Amino acid sequence: MPPNSAPHDPAPTSAPAAPRIGVVGGGQLARMMLGPAIELGLPLTVLATDPAESAAQGAARVRIGRHDDEEAVRALAAEVDVLTFDHEHVPPRILEGIERDGLAAVRPGPSALVHAQDKLLMRERLSALGHPCPHWWRAVSAADVDAALAEIGAAAGEGAAPAPRAVVKTPRGGYDGHGVRIVSAGGDVADWFEEHDELLVEELVPFTRELSAQVARRPGGEMLAFPVVRSTQKDGVCFEVLAPAPDLSAADQERIQHLALRIAEDLGVTGMLAVELFETTAGEVLVNELAMRPHNTGHWSMEGAVTGQFEQHLRAVADLPLGASAPRAPHAVMVNLLGGSREDLAAGAREAMARDPELKIHLYGKTVRPGRKVGHVTLAGEDPADLLARAHRAERLIIDAVHEEQSA
Ligand code: ADP
Repeated sequence: MPPNSAPHDPAPTSAPAAPRIGVVGGGQLARMMLGPAIELGLPLTVLATDPAESAAQGAARVRIGRHDDEEAVRALAAEVDVLTFDHEHVPPRILEGIERDGLAAVRPGPSALVHAQDKLLMRERLSALGHPCPHWWRAVSAADVDAALAEIGAAAGEGAAPAPRAVVKTPRGGYDGHGVRIVSAGGDVADWFEEHDELLVEELVPFTRELSAQVARRPGGEMLAFPVVRSTQKDGVCFEVLAPAPDLSAADQERIQHLALRIAEDLGVTGMLAVELFETTAGEVLVNELAMRPHNTGHWSMEGAVTGQFEQHLRAVADLPLGASAPRAPHAVMVNLLGGSREDLAAGAREAMARDPELKIHLYGKTVRPGRKVGHVTLAGEDPADLLARAHRAERLIIDAVHEEQSA
């Protein structure tokens, strides 16, 4: 059993049993909340910037407006009970105003959400709380980046080859590797200092793999952890997830789940929290970043767990009892569909369905562009190597029209 902070269904609350949910942002994460919202009978309204956006295509209730337009976000808040998010880019002052004026419950609230919005604030707070992070520095100039590089070089020892390198990140607005650069001199990010007052510098962690730990937390504090998964990135974009992470001892799994639960509690998160982690050769884990919403590394749970992450997010923000997070099969895999050479994904999906009846396909209704996340596939079963091979075969078929016999 995963660690569980409290018995199920703690004291009843005065919240409505079927609160109206407003989701800011019309991307695929909002889209994938639609099915569970319908199943649970929760009226859900999406604030999308365009009627063609992924979630706006499927939602019965759509408002058109930007996430940083105060009037648009407040108008959504005024007609729902709970406001939640497809992404973390809503300016905190808008959310603080909504909370102050009692327009809607904001979940996660702005005081928690800032730690997913601003990587410098996140590093500062996690370090103060004693949670394991890579070594990091705040840089307000290229000279500060050089000073951090000199420290990294000194720690590596005299004469250590090659020249020291560091990872520099824009504190806000980054996603899928945009806003992350590996540098060997402060001058490498001179352009970023023209737009940002400060940057986050981190040691280049020699990680062996990346893990992700997801937990759900209700407003009253009830929490539940999902199995820890292994996520693999290509060019800063997640493309494959294996659940649970292979070769992770039960003790390590529990230790990592407890870390994620503690972070959720320390920061007062409501809804789903994803803690992205580096596992190092020394067997340590270091927190990379936080996401306070359903996350790409949790898509496997839609079919692979008793309660998928989108349903769990809705239950948590609606203050409903959480669902079991146990896996339905010994292993589950998720492979992202990143835009390739084929534009007609439906044709590829049809072929993939015919070839593998166990395959689950999710298409996001987005126009195909190279490398863009346009969907994902999942499989659950007994043999992880077989599941991964089949999922990648389906992926190539759907996005590039490559048949097994061609790729063999
Ligand atoms: P984003 O917000 O774009 O997802 P991340 O901070 O997660 O950015 O970084 C993207 C990827 O870059 C990570 O998944 C990891 O592969 C790599 N990366 C980020 N920080 C470091 C670091 N300190 N050391 C080594 N690799 C890193």
